[in-house]
Amino acid sequence: MALRKYIFVTGGVTSSLGKGIISSSLAKLLQARGYSVTIQKLDPYINVDPGTLNPYEHGECYVTEDGAETDLDLGHYERFTNIPTTQNNNVTTGRIYQSVINKERKGDYLGKTVQVIPHITDEIKRRIKILGTKGNFDFIITEIGGTVGDIESLPYIEAIRQLRWEMGPLNSLVIHLTLVPYLAASAELKTKPTQHSVKMLLENGIQPNILVLRTEHPLNSDIRKKVALFCNVEYNSVIESIDVSTIYEVPLLMQKEGLDGTVLRKLNLPEGEKPEMKPWKQFVGKVKNPKKSVRIALVGKYVELPDSYKSIMESFVHAGAVNDCKVILQSIQSEKINEGNIGSIFTGMQGILVAPGFGDRGIEGKILSARYARENNIPFFGICLGLQCAIIEFARNVIGLTDAHSTEMDLKTPHPVIDLMEEQKGVTIKGGTMRLGIYPCNIMPGSRCSKIYNQPEVLERHRHRYEFNSNYLDMYEEKGMMAAGINPDTELVEIMEIPDHKWFIGVQFHPEYRSTVLSPHPLFIDFVRAALA
Ligand code: GLN
Repeated sequence: MALRKYIFVTGGVTSSLGKGIISSSLAKLLQARGYSVTIQKLDPYINVDPGTLNPYEHGECYVTEDGAETDLDLGHYERFTNIPTTQNNNVTTGRIYQSVINKERKGDYLGKTVQVIPHITDEIKRRIKILGTKGNFDFIITEIGGTVGDIESLPYIEAIRQLRWEMGPLNSLVIHLTLVPYLAASAELKTKPTQHSVKMLLENGIQPNILVLRTEHPLNSDIRKKVALFCNVEYNSVIESIDVSTIYEVPLLMQKEGLDGTVLRKLNLPEGEKPEMKPWKQFVGKVKNPKKSVRIALVGKYVELPDSYKSIMESFVHAGAVNDCKVILQSIQSEKINEGNIGSIFTGMQGILVAPGFGDRGIEGKILSARYARENNIPFFGICLGLQCAIIEFARNVIGLTDAHSTEMDLKTPHPVIDLMEEQKGVTIKGGTMRLGIYPCNIMPGSRCSKIYNQPEVLERHRHRYEFNSNYLDMYEEKGMMAAGINPDTELVEIMEIPDHKWFIGVQFHPEYRSTVLSPHPLFIDFVRAALA
């Protein structure tokens, strides 16, 4: 029987303090002690999910096995805990209101005025509790997006207050993450913003149990005492979270600060032995002390915001550690690439990755990049739109279909080598309607991918509307680009590769969503290995 303890993580002072990393680190530590843990993110915006958000607004959209388009923090949860998340792990205000309004229309509240309290807060509580009742978890960690004091966060804070009251103090606790800024002019760390944000929580009826303080400098005992006294928490519940060079070091840091032990003590659970974090430490050691480095170009149109390609970047950290090397990712804005400058842009690059994406901005630069990699025998990895670009390029420059394109970019192309999937043809609504989530893929015996995966069937996650138009497959195979992965149910081509090339693979799915610290993705590992060779 699972324990079902609820841990709420709130944030104060500023956004981007890393609640997702703290939640993931705590989950990792509790897991290492033998507990089962899941993490949930509640996002206070009105979009029903982040699938309709531009990556510039909100970073990458992460896709779960069951096809939910979610916040990028869920990627951290999976990368740290190695446990898949689901639709239930990310809930937005939009989704909460949508279900309340649907119920209202059905007549579920007949006769009642539907209000934020109790109807919205009840729905929030239901969404939090679902994870405990549906899953078999000892700990359900719920991260509240946004910052305490935001108008949008209020219903969430109120829902937590009620839940804590209902559950009792031994079944839930609140961890509040804040910032202790350093004033260089007076060489001082300041605790006032933390005091104020705790005060704000108190105004809403919540006394946090544990404070995690983000800081650029170590916190001495005077500062810790001051925060403990003025924020009404125990001295050893003031946890320092100092800046580190890799997010993967945070669990080790939190262990040193005793975060997991404090959580267990407060919930009246035996602390036991400190968990063994050996494999994790080994991984962090490899990340921090690489023996060599490799330069890989990441070609995309959202490169100005690194969060847009979060999972790809993290997959390279995992794959780099396996190869004992640091992957230096050189972000390249595809709009800037042209025939004249491509040689100098890719000078020194040992591998080229063309990223996923939508729409035609920068598309010709991506197509040129695939061509450059193919013609110069540079390891090439195309993901989703990246595969589609490699296919268009091959049609134009090898098969001789000079006007070939994707119908996403050119509806009138005479050679639609990438075309809308059959199931997408009648779809007019944009939200949640792509081909989403996990699908099986049969790997062709004898292909490079069969050596890489070393299994005949794999499961990978998708997020797209267009596909390779199989009517052209014979032409490709005749000229040396082979289908290396096929969906066994629909026969959609999921992987193309060029056997007569150092390493040239394009995949219609997103392998980056599946790479974790303990289970790095084989395609990334092998791509890095090939780039190093
Ligand atoms: N825009 C392309 C499609 O919808 C590729 C999507 C992607 O790269 N995720 O098929």
